[in-house]
Amino acid sequence: MSAVATEYETVIGLEVHAQLATRSKMFCGCPTTFGAPPNSQTCPICQGMPGVLPVVNRRAVELAVRAALAFGLRVNPACRFARKHYYYPDMPKNFQISQYEEPLAEDGSLELEVDGAPRRIGIQRLHLEEDVGKLVHEGDFATALSSLVDYNRAGVPLMETVSRPDLRTPEEAAAYLKAFRAVLLALGVCDGNMEEGALRCDANISLRPRGSTELGTKVEIKNLNSFRNVQRALSKEYAHDYRYFPEPDLVPLQMDAAWVESTRAALPELPRARRQRFVSQYGLPAYDAGILTQSTALADYYEAAVRAHPANPKALANWITSELLREVDAADDTAIARSGISPARLAGLVLLIDDGTISGKIAKDVFARMLASGEDPAAIVKREGLTQVADAGALEALVDAAIAANAKAVADFKSGKTAASRAVVGQVMKASGGKANPAMVDRLVQEKLSRM
Ligand SMILES: [Zn+2]
Repeated sequence: MSAVATEYETVIGLEVHAQLATRSKMFCGCPTTFGAPPNSQTCPICQGMPGVLPVVNRRAVELAVRAALAFGLRVNPACRFARKHYYYPDMPKNFQISQYEEPLAEDGSLELEVDGAPRRIGIQRLHLEEDVGKLVHEGDFATALSSLVDYNRAGVPLMETVSRPDLRTPEEAAAYLKAFRAVLLALGVCDGNMEEGALRCDANISLRPRGSTELGTKVEIKNLNSFRNVQRALSKEYAHDYRYFPEPDLVPLQMDAAWVESTRAALPELPRARRQRFVSQYGLPAYDAGILTQSTALADYYEAAVRAHPANPKALANWITSELLREVDAADDTAIARSGISPARLAGLVLLIDDGTISGKIAKDVFARMLASGEDPAAIVKREGLTQVADAGALEALVDAAIAANAKAVADFKSGKTAASRAVVGQVMKASGGKANPAMVDRLVQEKLSRM
């Protein structure tokens, strides 16, 4: 490690912009649907026409309060909107309505795990603001002679959260963003779709002498995918450059304390708490619990399966993490429903193994058929004649035949190489088409070889 790396430490703070999952914009009634034809979702308010007044979207405030409470922030009794001034053609008013000195909420944290170690990352503030429009350059960006502007996004409600500079490594920053997104999804505050820009992240990175509590000069790194962001990454900006002042067209928001408390009481179980409960209630390893709680839909699926077959939560977790998630994308909430395997059907499959009807090996074939047809596992087993052979008489005949055909394995076994019995067991399993009860075959083979 170089001298620089040991004498200095990296300090990272993240600003996350999350689009609030509302049907209409922050200050007007225009829809927020993604992918609509350019400028089809605009009105005089979000186009910045003179003589119109903004009206706050109550639902956006509710969603932001829900997120603030989930991250343990203090919701201020009153907050105020402010105008942030700068010129850019994607912003029709030449100012953005945001919040500055009086944000919606302050002082919270996000708990996460990095390499199994718990970390608490402070969240300094959470405020509401509106999104800007989007520039579309004709032809190649560098040589484009003209640009078009689409105001569909202008006025879309955003929630900006600013973390404290508590992050030290890119891994921690990634873990923060992942945990942050999981909380928003569990709350239904944001759809978390990063490709559509519903969740965007900027990093403030600085270096400081190790042990120092002062922050160095910060550099803001953004997704360098637009002229705006290149400019903002290279030309350092200060709050006073924006000439913030209170938005005169909007009265301060007064937060009713009882309403805030009822919102807090209605918060759903958050991913971290749910993960811890999966470990304590179902006896799952933390790793499995982490996979199963990465989305609300997946965790709900698991718990529905456990309700249908409460005797074996570990086996159900194994089937989901190893087999089901090989077929469906855990991040896609609707993919599991589309797989055709309901929680009850998966529970039915595990029950067939647990009661000895089928072997684990046959169960994988049944699972593949369930995926293809959406059928009930018991119906597949019955139709295909896959019921496990656990009849001692029938198995004995197969074992005798396998022993007769494996003189070398028998000789090896008698000379003390007891592992040679596996070849005989394998032959019996194969001869039975995988339907023989493996434990019974193993016992019969051991017995017969030992007596020889
Ligand atoms: Zn509008």
